[in-house]
Amino acid sequence: MASEFELIAKYFTRPARRTLLGVGDDAALLRCAPGKELAVSADMLLCDRHFFADDPPESIGHKALAVNLSDMAAMGATPRWALLSLALPAPDETWLAGFAEGFFALAQAYGVSLIGGDTTRGPLAIAVTILGEVPRGAALRRSGARAGDDVWVSGTLGDAALVLAHRNHRIALRPGEVAQLSPRLHRPEPRVRLGQRLRGVASAAIDVSDGLGADLGHLVAASKVGAVIEWARLPLSPIAAAYADDPVAREAVLSGGDDYELCFTAAASQRARIRALGRRLELPLARIGTVTGEPGLLLVGRDGRVLALEPRGYDHFA
Ligand code: ADP
Ligand code: MG
Repeated sequence: MASEFELIAKYFTRPARRTLLGVGDDAALLRCAPGKELAVSADMLLCDRHFFADDPPESIGHKALAVNLSDMAAMGATPRWALLSLALPAPDETWLAGFAEGFFALAQAYGVSLIGGDTTRGPLAIAVTILGEVPRGAALRRSGARAGDDVWVSGTLGDAALVLAHRNHRIALRPGEVAQLSPRLHRPEPRVRLGQRLRGVASAAIDVSDGLGADLGHLVAASKVGAVIEWARLPLSPIAAAYADDPVAREAVLSGGDDYELCFTAAASQRARIRALGRRLELPLARIGTVTGEPGLLLVGRDGRVLALEPRGYDHFA
């Protein structure tokens, strides 16, 4: 059986870019480019909570990095380096090879180097720390939204949560629909390029990992403002739209989570620029509402009725 060190050498040691010292010593050594700040974030994925043991290992590797890249996107940062800490029940090399394939394919696509981590025996858990660079003072924060700004969201909402609801027998999708939406749950595409291009355009940003209500709730709270969102403006995939009368689907859209889209605010004067950006990136950007001076989130329904949008996203301790 391969030792811990053989496994690290075989699966997790690759040439690293922009790195003074990578995997193999007691710590990695990095140098930030002049005029840049470091953006650092960590995310942990646990078996049966964030993924299932029988998910393809490639998709687990992809998602472990994607959720961290999404945090870089939300800061407007360029991801550069990652650390990977793994607890493995047993050194299953088929699983490790698949996991590494998914992880490194995404890392390569975004120019991210794996520079270290930790490998131990234990219940399957994956913790990734990501480091990125952002021009000094230019990072997007949650706290910059002003009353009167527009609220925007990228892509579509609720698709990943619909697949999960189907898996949990809370809604019945057709097989073709499951196949079409599954990548949204298993292989989310982090909006890194969008985040970078929103520097100097957006007043605040957050990535939608726990559901629109929860994450926009964090943004408005950090900005000491509120927002009014219109249901009719929320971007839904054709499949999600077809189920929109089902309360489970509505919940998926408003508070489902795992979307990994960006929600951001911007002055109305930026509308043309944001629309042009969406066309250039071939990523739909929807203007879904307005920032208000009153704290809290309101949702205008299709019938024009105004409801409180509960910030009820995924909360591990709820
Ligand atoms: P230490 O005992 O000093 O913490 P380790 O023996 O845990 O060092 O790790 C040896 C080297 O391998 C270190 O450079 C560490 O960052 C790296 N490493 C360990 N596990 C991983 C992993 N899963 N992915 C990438 N690098 C790893
Ligand atoms: Mg160690």
